[in-house]
Amino acid sequence: MKLNELTITEAREGLKNKKFSSSELTRACLEQIEKHDAKINAFITVCKKQAIEQAKEADKLLSNGAMEQWSNLPLLGIPIALKDLYSTKDIKTTAGSKVLKDYSPVYDATVVKKLKDAGAVIIGKTNLDAWAHGSSGENSDFGPTKNPWNQEYVPGGSSSGSAAALAADMYLAATGTDTGGSIRLPASFCNLVGLKPTYGRVSRYGIIAMASSLDSIGHLAKTVEDSALLLNITAGNDVFDATTPKKPVPDYQKGLQKGIKELKIGIPKEYLQTGLDEKVKENFEDTKRILSRLGANLIEVSLPHTEYAIACYYIIQPAEVSSNLERYDGIRFGNDRSFFTDEAKRRIMLGTFTLSAGYYEAYYKKAMQVRTLIKKDFEDAFVKVDALIAPVSPTPSWKLGEKVDDPLKMYLSDVFTVTANLAGIPALAVPSGFINGLPVGIQILGPQFSEELLFQVGFAYEQATEWYKRKAILNL
Ligand code: GLN
Repeated sequence: MKLNELTITEAREGLKNKKFSSSELTRACLEQIEKHDAKINAFITVCKKQAIEQAKEADKLLSNGAMEQWSNLPLLGIPIALKDLYSTKDIKTTAGSKVLKDYSPVYDATVVKKLKDAGAVIIGKTNLDAWAHGSSGENSDFGPTKNPWNQEYVPGGSSSGSAAALAADMYLAATGTDTGGSIRLPASFCNLVGLKPTYGRVSRYGIIAMASSLDSIGHLAKTVEDSALLLNITAGNDVFDATTPKKPVPDYQKGLQKGIKELKIGIPKEYLQTGLDEKVKENFEDTKRILSRLGANLIEVSLPHTEYAIACYYIIQPAEVSSNLERYDGIRFGNDRSFFTDEAKRRIMLGTFTLSAGYYEAYYKKAMQVRTLIKKDFEDAFVKVDALIAPVSPTPSWKLGEKVDDPLKMYLSDVFTVTANLAGIPALAVPSGFINGLPVGIQILGPQFSEELLFQVGFAYEQATEWYKRKAILNL
């Protein structure tokens, strides 16, 4: 196996036992980027020089016995990437938009600081739908990202680059953001594990805001174990983000092996009705069989307001987008608004409309009331069951260009993901197999702050299925 193909857990072992150095590991990742990224287009910025320096620094610490303080430096020498929505000091941060094409922040986002403090090597900034608006990666002003499993297909968005490059083994993990599915969708389209944590579990400070009451800060990894390790680092209270509670951060890796015997897992019946691709349905039936075999009790539950979720999301989210993007119009600095592309303009107009006098009560306020009902659906379900499972998306990945001209079609790919954001609950996407050679995934949802349980279920399922072991074949 090549070094860049390792998981974080495997690479840590190798570094610890001096089988290879961080410089070798980092170089293997950089070579993979040089070889394949011209086709995949997963990066906006590759931080080659800095990464090589950070790796050297890590090697110095490693040879000085830093391994003894391993628990303080859980990512020492591990190459990772950041979605280009995360502010990085002195490194260009574009949000996938030409509006910010030359913007270099003066500070690091809290999560970036935490990852650096944990010893990570930052290898680059990944491509995304501009301002994180999208489900396919095609809304990026820096060109679409291709799916490494089949380059004619989309990798899923908006964390498109983070997912595609990870599936192409260009680094060992990457950050993402999930406002309505942007981590889970690309994770499932690229055969990866994607975590959308509970709202407020991870600080949003320094991450360019999309819709502030929905934005969740998570990551993509190759395995559930790696995902748990990353949350150990990123979770917790931050004085710069008032929505992060002072709740202790458990060791998320601790309960992985517990198994799922006797766990009550709910199947939301509304998720299996209209619009679900037949093959995705079959795949989901397989998942149910596997979970039963592992000892879980599967129980049908109802989330009756599911049918209003997309409509509700597409009122609340653009309303918040219109407010957050106001600061970037550049009018004060003599620019016009021409750098905003269609999708951002559409959302700004929609949001401005629903927030304006006379319409606010009919649209925004109503959507907020429906949001409360959606949240209550989940609360009622979690009285009966410990967790829920559902497909991530009603279809597998689609061809580049297939939905770009039909925003409604594109929006509908998020029917099963926006609900977790509206309710503020965590959800973990795990690979569940392949349809015509393209990966698909399931998601595990639980009550707020139940990430430990999600990892426990995800790990049991992943170890029983081993889909994560399959690798995309990249032809030159
Ligand atoms: N696809 C959804 C949208 O375009 C979600 C985006 C996201 O989670 N950032 O709004």
